[in-house]
Order: sequence, then structure tokens, then C-alpha cells
Amino acid sequence: MLSIAHGPTGAFIAAKIPNPLISIPLAIAAHYLQDRVPHWDVGQGLSKQTKSKKLAFVQELLIDFPLSILIVYLFFQHGQAFNPNIWLGWFCGLLPDFIEFPYLFLKWRFFPLVHLDNIHKFFHRSTPNIFVGLPPQIAVLILIYLLK
Ligand SMILES: [Zn+2]
Repeated sequence: MLSIAHGPTGAFIAAKIPNPLISIPLAIAAHYLQDRVPHWDVGQGLSKQTKSKKLAFVQELLIDFPLSILIVYLFFQHGQAFNPNIWLGWFCGLLPDFIEFPYLFLKWRFFPLVHLDNIHKFFHRSTPNIFVGLPPQIAVLILIYLLK
């Protein structure tokens, strides 16, 4: 899924479960489970060369990633005291993608990135159809907003 779904999910888990020993593994596990849902993301089409990696990277860096920070701020930190646990949850919710970026965008293929990429691919189900692949991610955000 997009960072706008993964980041707030990790933050949500951290907000509900303040113990990082429990929330960190759950945030990482949630990432893989969310990727299992057929979704549209910025990497979509990379393997089919329908979108350049540079464009996907710019889209991720300038839109998706900053939006995930903004959403976590608005949902969990606006008018609140700074809570490092929330941001740790955000980070861990995105960690599997952070780990994959060097592999995906810079072609750094070495241990353990290769194995982590295989795990990611095992769970990853994406669709090039934005009208099918975006609604589940919007639903995640609505659920987080309602349950936070
Ligand atoms: Zn992922």
C-alpha cells in the first residue's frame, strides 16, 4: 500500500498499544498484511516498465511520504504533546518499504536485502487499476480516523 496507509496504521497501533515491544512487531506485521490486499501504489507498473522508476521515486518522495507524515500529525499529534511512540509506530509501519527502497530504486541487490525483498514480494498484491486499488487504502484511513 501507499505510505499514507502504512504510516498512519503504524502510528495507530502505537497509539493503542503504548508498549513498543508489542507495537513495533505489530506495526511491521500490519505492513505485510496490508500489502496482501490488492492495492495501487507508486511502484505500480515498475516491473512492466509502464512507469519510470525515477517518476515513481519522485512521486513517493514528494507526495506519498510527506502526506503520511501530515496525516499522522493531524490524526495523532495536532494539539497534543510530542509523542515519540507515535512516530516510532509510523516509522515501523513503513519500515519494510524503507528497507526495500535501495533494492528497488538503486538496484542494490545483496544480502539481506534480497531475502527481505522476497518476503515483501510474497505478501505484495498490487493492481494497476487505481479505482480498484485506492479505495481499500482510503477505507484504512477512514477506519483509523474513526477508531483513533
Ligand atoms: Zn510494502
